[in-house]
Amino acid sequence: MATRVRVGDAAITGLVDRQHKLSPEWHYPDVPAADWEPYREMLSDEAMALLNFRAFLVRADGKTILIDTGWGPKHAPPGAAASPARLPQEMAEVDATMDDVDVVVFTHLHADHVGWNLTYGEDEAAAPSPNFRNARYLVPADDWAHYNNIEQMHPNIREQALPLGDLDVLDTFEGEHLVSPSLQALPTPGHSPGHSSFVLSSGGERCFVLGDLAHHPIIAAETHWVHRFDFDPERARAQRERVLGELDDTDTLVAAGHFPQPGFGRFVRVDGRREWRPIEI
Ligand SMILES: [Zn+2]
Repeated sequence: MATRVRVGDAAITGLVDRQHKLSPEWHYPDVPAADWEPYREMLSDEAMALLNFRAFLVRADGKTILIDTGWGPKHAPPGAAASPARLPQEMAEVDATMDDVDVVVFTHLHADHVGWNLTYGEDEAAAPSPNFRNARYLVPADDWAHYNNIEQMHPNIREQALPLGDLDVLDTFEGEHLVSPSLQALPTPGHSPGHSSFVLSSGGERCFVLGDLAHHPIIAAETHWVHRFDFDPERARAQRERVLGELDDTDTLVAAGHFPQPGFGRFVRVDGRREWRPIEI
């Protein structure tokens, strides 16, 4: 299912770790059922929202960079049974191994974005080891501070993100951080305190990695809908409206980790209304 797209001299591949179906109302609990009616045909036969959980593999500047690491093998999304976690197999489809990864960078530290970071041995008291053993792990500083200062969190964050801090493999970043000459982080806080998007630029082409600014193509037109996990709803909405407004009717390719396959497309205006137009593979 891996989908590879060229961006100038670079390449970006969408890797589907898991998929599942969940009621749309669960995602957007404050949105009245009637507001979903115009979109019923965009949902599945069971009127469920099919969500993908993707990581993106970037090859640029002679480096292999992984953006997010999916749910991983241990924890799965709530709702209908999820497909098995398959990030390593997806990487193999584009001839990449975990050992090839030079940098793992995160849009944010939610449970569905950190799952393949660490492996625990038989001795549970022993430190886990990084699965991407040749990589540095780059984490938004505001997410790192947030999750190190709260008690309640999904176990995947506690098990797969926080222990990185004890393993001498982690750096935090702030603001418009250059991950690599062709890959820049852009702060888009709201969904989480340090939520970041990324722009891959090469040879005059651009790809914008959305992160969780939007979870479903319906949000193209409904940017004011608040997602269940928007940490700061007002800030999340403001970032969503700003970024999608900037991407409207441009050549910039958009990589949307939770959208249906292929997960790449563009935001276009049709009769004044914004739509998601997937690329044709
Ligand atoms: Zn997510």
